[in-house]
Amino acid sequence: MMKVHNFSAGPAILPATVMQEAAQGVLDLNHSGLSILEISHRSKDFTAIIEEAEALIRELYRIPDTYAVLFLSGGASTQFFMVPMNILANDETAAYADTGSWSSKAIKEAKAFGTIEVVASSKADNYTYIPKGYSVPEGARYLHITTNNTIFGTQYHALPETDTPLVADMSSDFLSGPIDISKFDVIYAGAQKNLGPAGVTVVILKKDLLNRTGRELPSMLNYQTHVEGASLYNTPPVFPIYVSMLTLRWIKEQGGLQAVKAHNQHKSDLLYQEIDRNPLFRGTARAEDRSQMNVTFLLHDPSREEAFLKLCKSKGISGIKGHRSVGGFRASIYNAMPVESVQVLIDAMQEFAGQS
Ligand SMILES: *Cc1c(COP(=O)(O)O)cnc(C)c1O
Repeated sequence: MMKVHNFSAGPAILPATVMQEAAQGVLDLNHSGLSILEISHRSKDFTAIIEEAEALIRELYRIPDTYAVLFLSGGASTQFFMVPMNILANDETAAYADTGSWSSKAIKEAKAFGTIEVVASSKADNYTYIPKGYSVPEGARYLHITTNNTIFGTQYHALPETDTPLVADMSSDFLSGPIDISKFDVIYAGAQKNLGPAGVTVVILKKDLLNRTGRELPSMLNYQTHVEGASLYNTPPVFPIYVSMLTLRWIKEQGGLQAVKAHNQHKSDLLYQEIDRNPLFRGTARAEDRSQMNVTFLLHDPSREEAFLKLCKSKGISGIKGHRSVGGFRASIYNAMPVESVQVLIDAMQEFAGQS
């Protein structure tokens, strides 16, 4: 069978060794004779797994005890409303930066829970850049940002200059490099881009934000419930948490977030260099805001798109068709993407241009 190079935007590539361990855990977890799929979420084996997952996230991001780390379900899309529902009172204002479809959805959902001010938007330019230099209204409860815009291929390479606490949707660049946790009130990330299978969402939040809005909340939608229950109030997504833990171990083995970041930088530099050099292609995002996770690019001659996709297919390159709102191509090169696969794509681009 030909090797497949998985450039899918999400659910996305996971490290090959993690797949093998996960498969083993399905057949026989820790030589228990039981599968990870059929054990209690309150068993000793699973307690050890979820505790290790939390400890590794804390260690990698250097998260102090003043923050909770939760494993929830409902995807990042549930956090679009759960964040404001839990931390924004009706008479308060939150600021949002609109940098793509996911930001827009977060804005739409938040409007039910307070005053939402969109303080910056790159929508008029089809989200090709990250707005900078805008001001956040005095007294805003938080500024919501989407640190990596999966669809449009842009990413914050520096945080907005503001003293307002940040709330960040990090779904597609979670654990792709170090962050300064003290700048954030809440971070959330659906696992399926850079951490594990779909089904679990990691939420990191400052504990002093709990129960401050006076709003009555259903238990499942109240962060307090999950902080008190250590993410075991109800049955959590056991298997996605298990695989995420394996990926976290893998990240640590790679040398932690500095090392992962250097690798991501290297891979994305190689690919952007080819996009800029190759006469047939061009990037869609402003150079300074280009994402290290999702590389979006077009052919100058769109009538040749099908031919390029066909060539890619013949090389085992999978999942690079661009999102319909950008067109062209999107190569998602998350943490687990090996540089060898990026090179296969670069070689295909050169072959297409008749240069190899
Ligand atoms: C994929 C994605 C989402 C949606 O995640 P779900 O888990 O499907 O709800 C939200 N934000 C960003 C940045 C994403 O990449």
